[in-house]
Amino acid sequence: MSIAPVIYVIEPFGGSIRRHNANLPLLFADDLGVTRGDGIFEAMRVEGGQAHNMERHLERFRRSAEALDLPLPTPEKWQEATKAALEEWGEAEGKCTWTLTRGRASTSIPTGWVAVEGIDAETLREREKGVKAITMERTWQLPTEFPAKTVNYAATMAALRYATKQGAQDVIYLNGAGLVLEGSRSSVVTTKGRKLRTPAAPGILPGTTQAAIFARAEADGWRCKRKEMNVDYLLGADSVWLVSSTRGPVRVTHLNGQKLPKPANVEEIRELMRSAL
Ligand code: PLP
Repeated sequence: MSIAPVIYVIEPFGGSIRRHNANLPLLFADDLGVTRGDGIFEAMRVEGGQAHNMERHLERFRRSAEALDLPLPTPEKWQEATKAALEEWGEAEGKCTWTLTRGRASTSIPTGWVAVEGIDAETLREREKGVKAITMERTWQLPTEFPAKTVNYAATMAALRYATKQGAQDVIYLNGAGLVLEGSRSSVVTTKGRKLRTPAAPGILPGTTQAAIFARAEADGWRCKRKEMNVDYLLGADSVWLVSSTRGPVRVTHLNGQKLPKPANVEEIRELMRSAL
């Protein structure tokens, strides 16, 4: 059974919040978020009536707005709307998305809303079974000085459709020099012994989940750092993971058709990563 999303609209410039009926339209046809993909978002996991890792998401949301010259979101308003939506949503696990677009071309007034909805069946399957991934060069990118989480995912969705046709479920992006960047909608984390590594290269979106996992793992005695890595490095790791707020840790079972090892302590690693979320 799918449960209808809960939506709260945030009037810009510190204005009021109001509930929106999810069965009614929300955007105008000239909203630049739709016509240009000109907007930002954050997606976080909710459970037990709480949004997880909210401080890290607020900080990245602010930096994304700054990068795109959007008005800086007022944290209290987004927190208030999230709280209202979660009171209605209840305790169940779900996904809370904050979206802020440049708004209508005709008014230049930004559009912002919070939506809480269920976790889709595909995500639940991936958490359990892992994903087959293929690598692909990322030929488009925001200026590397301004990594922002934008709503412009058309190229990503095309890459994912291509991956599906190749019998895979996800894409790991490389840059022109063959360095690993990130998953299509996730950060890459590898393990080797008690070491965790995440790619270092310009233009990677800083992942809140990767940051939370590293903080937790370091406290547990793992050694964690960023490292330049290529495809051979991934193939030689003990395990490769795609991590994001709503998916959590998803193990990469195959890369470019090659089966990746499953370490004996795979459940320990999964539990470590999960406990950080
Ligand atoms: N990198 C990209 C390109 C993403 O789209 C996402 C999430 O959507 C992430 C990384 C992971 O971010 P987070 O862990 O903050 O959810």
